[in-house]
Amino acid sequence: MSVVALGESLGLLVASRIGRLELVPTMDLGFGGAESNVAIGLARLGVPTTWMGRLGDDALGRLIERQLRAEGVGVATTLDPAAPTALMLKERPAAGASSVVYYRAGSAGSRLAPEHLDLAAIGEARILHVTGITAALGEAPRAALDAAIDAAHAAGALVSFDVNHRSRLWSHAVAAPEYRAIAARADVVFAGEDEAELLTGEREPEAQARALVALGAAQAVVKLGADGALGLVDGELVRQAAFPVHAVDTVGAGDAFVAGYLAELLEGAPLAERLRTAAACGAVACTAPGDWEAAPDRAAIARLLGGGDPVQR
Ligand code: ATP
Repeated sequence: MSVVALGESLGLLVASRIGRLELVPTMDLGFGGAESNVAIGLARLGVPTTWMGRLGDDALGRLIERQLRAEGVGVATTLDPAAPTALMLKERPAAGASSVVYYRAGSAGSRLAPEHLDLAAIGEARILHVTGITAALGEAPRAALDAAIDAAHAAGALVSFDVNHRSRLWSHAVAAPEYRAIAARADVVFAGEDEAELLTGEREPEAQARALVALGAAQAVVKLGADGALGLVDGELVRQAAFPVHAVDTVGAGDAFVAGYLAELLEGAPLAERLRTAAACGAVACTAPGDWEAAPDRAAIARLLGGGDPVQR
């Protein structure tokens, strides 16, 4: 496998209509998780990828494993006989807005520990992708994260770290030093503007990228939503504008963006091309609902970049 993405995947219930959750009569069942979203994005771009994490021995766990395999993602999981797969409920309070409630305390994924890792799979990968969410889940997942990074370093694999701050899981004050410690051990760091400020104290994206590199990562990428992104590698600073699209659901744009960047990194593409493909992936991911469903394949990227007629007959 070229990439191993380590983290927790959760069942996902999405309100089928806009309104207060307690008044919504039906919900659609799916799944999500930042790392598995990245894994799917990579698989769609043709990159052999494994998702690694712990699942409950239950229907949601089976749903996640089936769906990942259906997307062409390898699954390296150990089932927890004593804890359920986590769940999140997504409320849609207004058009274009969403809010998530987690049922993940004590979940199988949050009981991930170093002994559950498939170290051989990490050792064979060219990139290990992790996020700050795993560190937020508790001491055992935090230890697993470090053990996975140790294994990647020992094997000469690159470590990719997307901060993915979740304020519902831990406070800024507790999270920030943990994020800085992980960034110091990573080769590529992705952060949104607010996250970059949390890590570095800087408010301006260029200064943020420089401060992220100063923490120890050779490659820093600041994601700026509809304003695009900025990358800093080996002193070269590249700005990438967002591709204009009709955005209907921006959740998952960041994960698709990371997949695009890593796919090009594996191809040995220069920074500007990595950011261009990443931005195209992020833009396409905004054009349809779902955390990972709209992540593009190469053909969808070509259609966006080609600017062709959106109606095909
Ligand atoms: P999330 O955590 O919701 O997945 P994020 O905050 O990590 O997202 P964003 O900065 O929102 O990441 O989006 C990642 C990239 O996707 C941006 O850098 C940009 O290139 C692209 N993107 C995001 N929103 C839009 C948009 N409205 N139109 C076009 N491109 C977008």
